[in-house]
Amino acid sequence: MSAYSTEVQLATSLLCSSSGAMQMLQLHRKLLQRCSITEEEFCFIISRCSRFLLVGERLEDRAVVARTSLRLCSGYGGGKCGGGGCQQLHLCKFFVYGNCRFAKGRKSCKFSHDIYSDHNYGLLRECTLHELNEDQLFLLLLQNDPALLPEVTQLTHTWTA
Ligand SMILES: [Zn+2]
Ligand SMILES: [Zn+2]
Repeated sequence: MSAYSTEVQLATSLLCSSSGAMQMLQLHRKLLQRCSITEEEFCFIISRCSRFLLVGERLEDRAVVARTSLRLCSGYGGGKCGGGGCQQLHLCKFFVYGNCRFAKGRKSCKFSHDIYSDHNYGLLRECTLHELNEDQLFLLLLQNDPALLPEVTQLTHTWTA
């Protein structure tokens, strides 16, 4: 997939700017505004790359959902992360939810709000997610990390289809 890393990154940021999912045809159209990608290449990327999940039965209704295996470190908040080779993000969970009460206050949060820290940015680069902005990245994490989901459904009720 590395031959298509630019297209994969573009498609990911388009999806994450659009609540994480988009109709297949619409995504292809939007991609065409940014790069030249044939329909064949597009279908190949979407069906082969683990970044994308196709949902829907009929071809014309098919939607693409952005995925990642990257997670927030569950030990980080409780000071239980072993450190060293940890392959998960070290971020304040509430910052990812968008409701850390220390985000704007005078007191600073004791957990990281920095997606560009050495640890976090290194992981983002490995997963080729480093070109996403905070909002896009957090949406992707919230929609993929089961550990984050219960509280999200409490916070936002927009996902009840
Ligand atoms: Zn960790
Ligand atoms: Zn915080």
